[in-house]
Amino acid sequence: MNTAAEILKRLQLPSDQDATGRDLGDDEMVKLGLAIESGTLTSTKGNFVKELETNFAATIGVDQVHACASGSAAVHCAVAAIDPEPGDEIITTSITDMGAITPILYQGAIPVFADVDPHTYNLTAATIEARLSPRTKAILVTHLFGNPADMADIMDLARSRDIPVIEDCAQAFGAKYRGQAVGSIGDISCFSLQQGKHITTGEGGLVATNNADYGRRMYLFINKAWGYGDPNPDHYFLALNYRMNELTGAVGVAQLEKLDQFVNRRIAVAEQFNSGLRGIRGITTPRVTADSIHTYWKYCLEVDSSAFAGGLDELAKQLKARNIFCAPRYIQKPAFECAVIKEQRTFGSSRFPFTLARPEALDYSRELFSGTYAALASVLVLPLNEKYTSSHVREVVEAIQATAADLQEESA
Ligand SMILES: *Cc1c(COP(=O)(O)O)cnc(C)c1O
Repeated sequence: MNTAAEILKRLQLPSDQDATGRDLGDDEMVKLGLAIESGTLTSTKGNFVKELETNFAATIGVDQVHACASGSAAVHCAVAAIDPEPGDEIITTSITDMGAITPILYQGAIPVFADVDPHTYNLTAATIEARLSPRTKAILVTHLFGNPADMADIMDLARSRDIPVIEDCAQAFGAKYRGQAVGSIGDISCFSLQQGKHITTGEGGLVATNNADYGRRMYLFINKAWGYGDPNPDHYFLALNYRMNELTGAVGVAQLEKLDQFVNRRIAVAEQFNSGLRGIRGITTPRVTADSIHTYWKYCLEVDSSAFAGGLDELAKQLKARNIFCAPRYIQKPAFECAVIKEQRTFGSSRFPFTLARPEALDYSRELFSGTYAALASVLVLPLNEKYTSSHVREVVEAIQATAADLQEESA
């Protein structure tokens, strides 16, 4: 028998919140030193942010990339580029980061939530179609956990209605759909460089597009809409300073050089998890969208609660007791159950822009979201990062096998 203390000592899993689970070192230090020595810390005059933009555009194969302050800022730029009228609707997913939703409200548009596939946790063409209306101005698709959404049908639907598609790739660096990099499929795409993403600068974001008009508008939106270099520059429209600084850009350039290596490591770790966990009754390993490369921001198991005494929550509790950090139910509740949406807490007491919405756009009835509730009731999120070794994975696998066996005996 291991004592709890012994298990704790043995199982120190690398964490993406500190150096144990992040690969930040000499490469970043050298570039950071150059940025500081140059004395130019603003991207309007320096070169690192420009280099990051150029290199990332080449990485995913798009014409233009603009760096910005965060993934949320990236989504805000994308929405601003599409320039909705107040009350226009943007279809989005009920399971995502709030940073992908609040920018819609800041631009005066209404987030209209569509249901997700209960096994891949992603939007589908069918769930999007169910929420389309004459006011739909854009579709915002998140490739959740690094698994690409099934984009062919989604793009066909969007093209047939002439509606632009924004891809939220914050969790999907390096992922591919039918051989094509995610982020190069829709009209605009957004990435985050936050502490816990595939590559990181602490905070930071990137937007990408092949559309010159959207690209220009996003560039301006990041720069207070000031027309740098124009013959008669002005502040052309309402916009903020969402710029990334050169220190962040320097770290970003160094991180991007390691992206392939990180992605390959994550895939290898996930494959080791798959082979260790396949065949446990009541547990299904991640379902990857057909013809896709999933890059495992997290590793999610689908748990059939009825197979375990105490269900998903007890399984998670026992794993945590074995020092396996895991998150049952991911975000706990669908995005529309959060106060900002449910109680319409926006600008003063105005409730704007919800006041402009069609009632059906704000219909969050449970029946409309069977996939969402099923997904949240069954998903167990296990962390993973580029520093996981085979022995880390083996220990996690053994802990899950043992816990599952204990709880199955009790329920049998
Ligand atoms: C992290 C994340 C964001 C927001 O990015 P920040 O850099 O935290 O603002 C948006 N969408 C998704 C899917 C995310 O995972």
